[in-house]
Amino acid sequence: MPLVSMRQLLDEAAKGGYGVGAFNVNNMEQIQAIMEAARETKSPVIIQASRGARSYSQDKFLYHLMLAAAELYPEIPLVMHLDHGNSVETCKSAIDLGFTSVMMDGSLMPDGKTPSSFEYNVDATRQVVEMAHAKGVTVEGEIGVLGGIEDGHGAGGTGLEHVTDPDQAAEFVEKTGVDALAIAIGTSHGAYKFSRKPDGAVLKMDRLIEIHKKIPHVHLVMHGSSSVPKDLQDIINQYGGSLKPTWGVPVEEIQLGIRNGVRKINVDTDNRLAITGAIRKVFTETPEKFDPRDYLKPAREAMKKVVAERMKQFGQAGHAGDYSPISISEMAKKYSAQGVGVR
Ligand SMILES: [Zn+2]
Repeated sequence: MPLVSMRQLLDEAAKGGYGVGAFNVNNMEQIQAIMEAARETKSPVIIQASRGARSYSQDKFLYHLMLAAAELYPEIPLVMHLDHGNSVETCKSAIDLGFTSVMMDGSLMPDGKTPSSFEYNVDATRQVVEMAHAKGVTVEGEIGVLGGIEDGHGAGGTGLEHVTDPDQAAEFVEKTGVDALAIAIGTSHGAYKFSRKPDGAVLKMDRLIEIHKKIPHVHLVMHGSSSVPKDLQDIINQYGGSLKPTWGVPVEEIQLGIRNGVRKINVDTDNRLAITGAIRKVFTETPEKFDPRDYLKPAREAMKKVVAERMKQFGQAGHAGDYSPISISEMAKKYSAQGVGVR
């Protein structure tokens, strides 16, 4: 199956009432882990690369690995998505390379740190929508500002400083024509999201439900949604690591989100923890080993296990064969027939 547009995946997810995990990658083993999990659970899947991942891998390597994934797993609808594009130019370079979906994060200025104005965000996002839709590429926007910093991107803070306003979210979608909308409800990037199991004071699921009621037709995106399970933290600490106690977003809260319009769920930290725990275990138990495959294979297997579990929990499992792909060029025709901004 060729790489497909994210819009099609999310429209199908909305019809089926499930969510789709979007997993970050930097290298071959991570892509293989996701594709194996997708095959095992029969899941459509979104694979995403941040700016940091693109520069780490020289993104051409990543792109060709994605083409290999599409070729080797023809039964899996697969999206290649840019995570947190910081400018119109960054999104353009991803589209030119062959990404089938981009995020324009205009909630921050192009430095990726400073919260922007609503007007700036609308203007930058609208430009990306016009450029992307002309090629059939999907656009995710963001309104409100997430907490934390990852890969040098983020405003820091707890994520409660700029929680998304439902009226502003509706106006933003109307003015930009985005296909999917990331919202800020108290989640943060990275491993240290919450200092205790989150309740309504720090994780604003009530706000998410309010936003969904206001714009029920819009595909919502939850960022910073690793669950940071204790068993994955424990493996790292058991084998010489030193993670401080931390809490992520509980899976049952994500499932509540999915019942209220969330269609894309971003997960990175859980996979990083799984990989690192598996590698530490090999290093500690068999310090005589030095073939990278001796630790990369268990690392890949550990990530696959986490991804497969999330695919089942998010409900995307079993849906890979529900539909045949609409090509990017057909998507472009659909957009031009509808006009930008019409959903
Ligand atoms: Zn994010």
